[in-house]
Amino acid sequence: MSGEHSWDAPPSEGEPGEAPGSLRFIEEFVNSVELPDGEDHLGTVEDAVRWLTARHIDAEGLDETARAGLVDLREAFRDLLAANAGHPVPQETINMVMHRLNDIRLAVVITEQGAHAHPAPDEKGENVFLGTLAAAMITASVYGTWQRLKICRNDECRWAFYDRSKNGGRVWCSMQSCGCQSKSRAYRERKRTASVDAAG
Ligand SMILES: [Zn+2]
Repeated sequence: MSGEHSWDAPPSEGEPGEAPGSLRFIEEFVNSVELPDGEDHLGTVEDAVRWLTARHIDAEGLDETARAGLVDLREAFRDLLAANAGHPVPQETINMVMHRLNDIRLAVVITEQGAHAHPAPDEKGENVFLGTLAAAMITASVYGTWQRLKICRNDECRWAFYDRSKNGGRVWCSMQSCGCQSKSRAYRERKRTASVDAAG
């Protein structure tokens, strides 16, 4: 257990648009690739070790199977967070995440500010990472911040973003890049349909 990172802290205000507290850990995990064909920080074993090490996770001995498992888990989290933007989540996805995280033991840490969950001290390597994800998810669910971490509705983007809007109704990571693009696409489609109708 180390006090070097802030992932185990209760939610605090982050930068605008960034998820608060430990939920940012999940946001960064999901955004470790830029879809559809951008850089993937978990793309090779070497990249994944670097990415985890930067987050104070001991990734020594991480192999290709473990790396591929992390990528599968990342995409399952992306599907899970899409629910917060109103998309249905397949039950297999929920089961898969539950199965991966249920094997990890969490410890309760008591401080002057109260209690929070943390990977058990004897968990090692990848399990510390999975435990940190589980603890962050529990904390965010309790604080009610989980529902605001969403996946952009643009199918080509699917970036995770934290919705700080008053009504919690944001569906695009950015209005400029995704919202407008989608609006103009819908406009073009409507126009095309209209002209087909007129021609028919
Ligand atoms: Zn987007």
